[in-house]
Amino acid sequence: MPHTRKSFITALAILLLFPLLFMPQSTSAAASSTEKQTSKTNTKIIYLTFDDGPTAHTGQLLDILDQYNVKATFFMLGPQMEKYQQSTKRIVNEGHGLGLHGVTHVPSQFYKSAYSGLKEMQQANESLNKVAGVKTSLVRTPYGSKPYLKPAYRDVLLGQGGFHLWDWNVDSLDWKYKKDHQKVYDNVMSQVHNVKNKGVTPVVLMHDQEATLKVLPKVLKTLKAEGYQFEILKKNVLPVNFWKDKR
Ligand SMILES: [Zn+2]
Repeated sequence: MPHTRKSFITALAILLLFPLLFMPQSTSAAASSTEKQTSKTNTKIIYLTFDDGPTAHTGQLLDILDQYNVKATFFMLGPQMEKYQQSTKRIVNEGHGLGLHGVTHVPSQFYKSAYSGLKEMQQANESLNKVAGVKTSLVRTPYGSKPYLKPAYRDVLLGQGGFHLWDWNVDSLDWKYKKDHQKVYDNVMSQVHNVKNKGVTPVVLMHDQEATLKVLPKVLKTLKAEGYQFEILKKNVLPVNFWKDKR
């Protein structure tokens, strides 16, 4: 009797477990492959970047980003980081992307020689490290890398210095239209749509300045409604720059 009973239980177990062994696996595999496809076709990534800070307005800028649960990348100037240390720390602590924008912001000095730009970026990195205890390898040169940052200069900054060069493909012109928020909003939205239609991820140039605070909420609201996901620039993201230099 015990032997028969054991066989019965084994048979019952096999009958019950047999479908369980296969069904859930095939179901979950099908589900995850559908999920992957959906996320691939529907993912709309965007990178927001803010230059020239930190400034006296960075706190408000960070509050707005926080309110919309958005992360951005800051290309910062050495002296500004030294001056606004609390904001620099906040940018780091709140998980925003970190980039360097040099020290002088004066083209005749930054682009004086192949090494002057490298020196400025290294010095700015020292400021970031001193203030917030971190470093970064991402850089954006003053006024963008074209035409000044020629091959010999890039070999020094990117080759020797190991930095990754970032320009942009959406120019908000927020520095120019400080009083015309609608113009800045239209610039961003029309260029984002253009870039996206070409299958390219938008990299938006804005500035850490008071005027930008007024248009930012509207921009964020629309981009969110359109389903964009805001990500930060990191060293493993293929750089977008005017020279198509992938270093
Ligand atoms: Zn700048």
